[in-house]
Amino acid sequence: SPLERARYLLAAHTRKQLPEDGGAEVAFAGRSNAGKSSALNALCRQNALARVSKTPGRTQQLVYFELPPHEGKYLVDLPGYGYAKVPQDLQAHWQAFLDQYFHTRAALKGLVVVMDIRHPLKDYDREMLGFAVRRGIPAHALLTKADKLSRGAASSAVLAVRRELAGPYGDTVSVQAFSGESKQGVEEARAVVEGWLGL
Ligand code: GDP
Repeated sequence: SPLERARYLLAAHTRKQLPEDGGAEVAFAGRSNAGKSSALNALCRQNALARVSKTPGRTQQLVYFELPPHEGKYLVDLPGYGYAKVPQDLQAHWQAFLDQYFHTRAALKGLVVVMDIRHPLKDYDREMLGFAVRRGIPAHALLTKADKLSRGAASSAVLAVRRELAGPYGDTVSVQAFSGESKQGVEEARAVVEGWLGL
């Protein structure tokens, strides 16, 4: 998969630090501990790719991974939300930056929201999905840690999330079970991301 070539490019804390807005990128969001880093690592078949996003000081930055040799195509790791104490003015700056990113970034072609399959669709997950859908950007709900449930329970969880999202979001949000541990669902998720990036 072209995603296996992913490598760290930069971390942006302000709009000026973002790469030129002319390519195609897919953003990954998720609550802290949902399993987003593990999911990114599994998709890119690398052990420590997303670790850089967790470096202290990077928790309020957009971390860009490039996909050589494809110029202008990126994976973007959004900070895990629900992170501890950030000073209030920093929080406001960050909120504004993220808002602006979602509203104006032309290169943003899709959003992956990583959720623990046992606790999906928390407030912030819905907020993220809403951001994307209001802009007409497709979203993909990656229900990870599926290895923690039986097959039957995992399928039921997927169906329940699909049903719940179908009302508000129609078919702009797709849903799948995933596991960074067992690698279940890696091919399916790669196909979605590569499709959005035109790879
Ligand atoms: P992040 O904060 O969303 O980036 O979450 P991490 O990827 O760091 O994972 C948080 C915790 O969940 C770690 O202890 C991981 O080992 C564990 N974890 C992540 N993905 C999976 C998975 O698919 N299955 C299981 N069983 N544990 C997982």
